[in-house]
Amino acid sequence: MTQMRYDRDADPTLIRERRVAILGFGSQGHAHALNLAENGVDVMVGLREDSARWQEAKAAGLAVGSAEDAAKWADVVMMLVPDTTQPAVFRDAVRPHLRPGDTLMFAHGFNIRFGTIEPPRDVDVSMVAPKGPGHRVRETFLEGGGVPALLAVHQDATKRADALALSYASAIGAGRAGVLTTSFAEETETDLFGEQSVLCGGVSELVKAGFDTLVEAGYQPEVAYFECLHELKLIVDLMYRGGLGYMRYSISDTAEWGDYVSGPRIVDEGTRARMRDVLAEIKSGEFAKRWVAENQAGRPEFERRRAAERAHPIEEVGERLRAMMPFVGPVKVPR
Ligand code: NAD
Ligand code: MG
Repeated sequence: MTQMRYDRDADPTLIRERRVAILGFGSQGHAHALNLAENGVDVMVGLREDSARWQEAKAAGLAVGSAEDAAKWADVVMMLVPDTTQPAVFRDAVRPHLRPGDTLMFAHGFNIRFGTIEPPRDVDVSMVAPKGPGHRVRETFLEGGGVPALLAVHQDATKRADALALSYASAIGAGRAGVLTTSFAEETETDLFGEQSVLCGGVSELVKAGFDTLVEAGYQPEVAYFECLHELKLIVDLMYRGGLGYMRYSISDTAEWGDYVSGPRIVDEGTRARMRDVLAEIKSGEFAKRWVAENQAGRPEFERRRAAERAHPIEEVGERLRAMMPFVGPVKVPR
């Protein structure tokens, strides 16, 4: 049975009675640290000594130290450095300072699910994973709202891990939107599947395939860009507000008919079978193993693919067209 909880279900004093280290001050780290501190929680940000973020966190009025100093001082440690960096930070800075009854927290289950971090048995291990980018976690908090979060308990040494995680979730603003109970396995597997098959991988390939098909057939790249990328946001906005039904209500009957007869020819049983393969490779740990090995090798394939994707013609056309549409808030990818 799905369990949704809100601020009214949380005890705000639990997290205020603890000392919370936020390791990392990136997308999630800055949002958690600032939201917690403004809710009266005792926070220290842990960073590398040479981190460019050090001054930024200090200027925001937060206590800052090395990752090791923060972990030593704290009794709750939230791991918000990149997933691939977490095992080394855990081994060097966190593990030596974990005392019985401490709490180790994550915002994504990767390292626990795939065994790349093995915490000692006498600490609590929990997750509060906001279902949105870190910058929105901060912005919605300032607007009086919040981003929903998934909560999970992997290890409950104190028998109080769930209540503390809920108190933490509430203090970053997630209790205003809803906190959904899950497991590390469910969060990790669905998150990886969603980003690979639909949100990032699936959509990018669909957009490129549509663009390439039109351009190869001799249509203008600018027309293809508007059709296959720019309009996607307008369609997704309708889905976001009212589901597929509202999108179909808003488009023309011709578009709706084309959706029904041609959509299933593009995403067919073969696509669904390959989605099941992708999910099976996530569950077996094959995907994680390959990604960990890629990082250990210095990311050669990752960099090669990133460079090739950046050179796709849709990126050049898009950059030119967006420059003429200041109202979309054009940005350039930092190199
Ligand atoms: P990020 O890349 O934005 O920030 C990482 C931070 O860690 C930076 O401040 C960096 O300086 C610091 N850092 C890197 N190496 C370090 C080291 N060795 N020692 C100390 N500090 C170090 O990361 P992020 O996207 O916020 O991801 C953090 C966690 O949150 C991950 O587990 C991720 O899966 C999860 N998460 C992220 C998002 C998101 O919106 N980006 C959403 C949900 C969950
Ligand atoms: Mg995700």
